[in-house]
Amino acid sequence: MNNRLMGSLLTFVAVAAGLSFAVPSHASAKIVTDVDKTAVVKTATSFGTAKSDDGAATGSASLTPAAKRWQATTISYKIASGSSYYKSVWSSAVKTWNRTGVVRLVKTSGKADITLSTSNSPMGKNDSTVGITYSSYYNNKTLNSLAVMANAKSYVYKNVANRYHYSKKERTNVAEHELGHALGLEHNVGKGSVMYYATRDQSVSKPDVNGLAHSYR
Ligand SMILES: [Zn+2]
Repeated sequence: MNNRLMGSLLTFVAVAAGLSFAVPSHASAKIVTDVDKTAVVKTATSFGTAKSDDGAATGSASLTPAAKRWQATTISYKIASGSSYYKSVWSSAVKTWNRTGVVRLVKTSGKADITLSTSNSPMGKNDSTVGITYSSYYNNKTLNSLAVMANAKSYVYKNVANRYHYSKKERTNVAEHELGHALGLEHNVGKGSVMYYATRDQSVSKPDVNGLAHSYR
């Protein structure tokens, strides 16, 4: 297991280094940072009114759009949440994306491409954001017309999830949504996608798998 893991990490490093050689302007690449939030769905109060966030969705509900992707399909991650509860939330989100067969998220104890974490919202428990992803990408590198990512960090906001009585399954859906952003996906216009801007009940579904496959084709 360890040897296999090392093998795939080395392969990943080799592929990444090989490709960056092919980009002469790599040395002058600027890293641009982005923020994606997930709005709370308050099913605890009345009929699931969603507060809007700043992530406008475009395109068809059958294909989750993307703006970015990683250079290789093998992507390293690290879970920074301390509690076993949130470790399990993030682990099942990782498993769900790995089951798509499009990308291979590999756990590392070293420097990870994606860091999965948990914290309290700095805006307080009544904030309308239950998850957030910060991601950085190179401004002069693209693959399939998508910006190539440099790093990503996703959070589930515990205090907000508690305040709106999210179940473990619902927190896992939020984790899947944030991890979707960390893989480069954007918001889907349809509620049948985990990338709907205010996902709560929805897990990764066909439009998301199709969108990911399209990005990493
Ligand atoms: Zn989002």
